[in-house]
Amino acid sequence: MDKSEFRKWSHRASDWTADYNDTLSQRPVRAQVKPGDIGKLIEAAPPDTAHDMETIFADFERIIPDGMTHWQHPRFFAYFPSNAAPAAVIAEQLATAIGAQCMLWQTSPAATELEVKMIDWLRQALGLPEGFSGTFQDTASSATLCAVLTMRERAMDWTGNKKGLFGQQPLRVYASKGTHSSIDKAMWVSGMGQDNLVHIPVDDNGAMDIGLLRAAIKADREAGYLPAGLVVCVGGTSVGATDDVAALCALGREENLFIHVDAAWAGSAMICPEFRYLWEGVEAADSIVFNPHKWLGAPMECSAHFVREPEKLVKTLAIQPEYLKTYGKEGLVNFSEWSVQLGRRFRALKIWFLLRAYGLDGLRSRIRNHVAWTRELAQKLAAEPDFEITSKPVLALFSFRYTPPGYKGDLDALNRDLVNAINDDGRIYLTQTLHKGEQVIRFTAGPFEMEEEDAHIAFDAICEIARSLAPDKEAL
Ligand SMILES: *Cc1c(COP(=O)(O)O)cnc(C)c1O
Repeated sequence: MDKSEFRKWSHRASDWTADYNDTLSQRPVRAQVKPGDIGKLIEAAPPDTAHDMETIFADFERIIPDGMTHWQHPRFFAYFPSNAAPAAVIAEQLATAIGAQCMLWQTSPAATELEVKMIDWLRQALGLPEGFSGTFQDTASSATLCAVLTMRERAMDWTGNKKGLFGQQPLRVYASKGTHSSIDKAMWVSGMGQDNLVHIPVDDNGAMDIGLLRAAIKADREAGYLPAGLVVCVGGTSVGATDDVAALCALGREENLFIHVDAAWAGSAMICPEFRYLWEGVEAADSIVFNPHKWLGAPMECSAHFVREPEKLVKTLAIQPEYLKTYGKEGLVNFSEWSVQLGRRFRALKIWFLLRAYGLDGLRSRIRNHVAWTRELAQKLAAEPDFEITSKPVLALFSFRYTPPGYKGDLDALNRDLVNAINDDGRIYLTQTLHKGEQVIRFTAGPFEMEEEDAHIAFDAICEIARSLAPDKEAL
């Protein structure tokens, strides 16, 4: 592409984006392609000679959108949302255009100083006390890895990075059975090992059993293990399981554990004071992660990682070869020293645009609507004779199961078939999970542009498609 054509194609991309947003609700939510359908449309080898932008853009329009699952669709109710609020998308365009590499203050002064401010804006928005600072990691998985590495280094008196774990007394980390797989992965990567992540059983609501945690720590100490950290879950991925944050933080402190709170999804809702009961006591944690790239509206990737004592994170992750030293700039924040990755995108810009373009009130009203519409939908399904609510709404997430009265077939298989049939239909998109040993269907409201009508469409689609499955009459 000739440099002089940039303006034209950039405008064309903006027009395309606006049209895409305007017509999104007419598309099926989940991609309707089969594996390999898209790959076979792409040339096997790179071109030696340049293609003109007209051809490239036409291929994009022809091949890509139909092969995508539309996360910005107003009826995306699967997994957790991954919102890209339009104003934040514009910030992303600008950040991409500047193309800065934000590893050190001196490589990106405005990005670094805006990041300090945006982390503090979010801290205030969430009602966290002064004293927490932090950084934007790419994902919650990375933030959790940084927290788990800090657990390791702190417990080993900061010798692990240098000496490795050979001959080290085995370190232990505790988390509930329902916590996210990113914690298991952090144990792998940190070298502490999956077997040293102690999964504590949960009560009926999915919260960690504190008595059993206390007993596990005691037994570990007696057996020669070194307890290092505790991961507290707020709004678990499967059905929103939430630990008793205050009680766990109190026990964690008593036991000298480094405490990390994973609120990757639910954290966004904490901008509404009425939902903060869910993580009451969180100010006693050492580290907290939540993803503005999930429910809040920041496009991927943007995970806010708060820490009470950044020195500990920096002591774990700062490395200064000669080529990264910035003489005369000591005492400045270099955010690459707060993360595993060295090169970093300019993530703060999208948070700045997001918070200003909608205001906290605009973001709060979206989240409140999602929560209210989710509760309504759960009530409506509960009132139907052939549906059962298998986990009550936690914020904007609940699970249900199709249980036609008298059905004697395999209900797990029936519900798996129902999820597939719903997603093939395309009006809405849902995913399944295993809850108390049963196959159940998750519903979570969160799309940035969702309207109340979209929840009604969800109700109609679920009921209609379930009943059209016409469970084998002989099984009834
Ligand atoms: C989504 C999620 C994660 C992982 O988030 P990434 O940003 O994709 O790494 C971790 N924990 C919980 C509770 C989540 O919901």
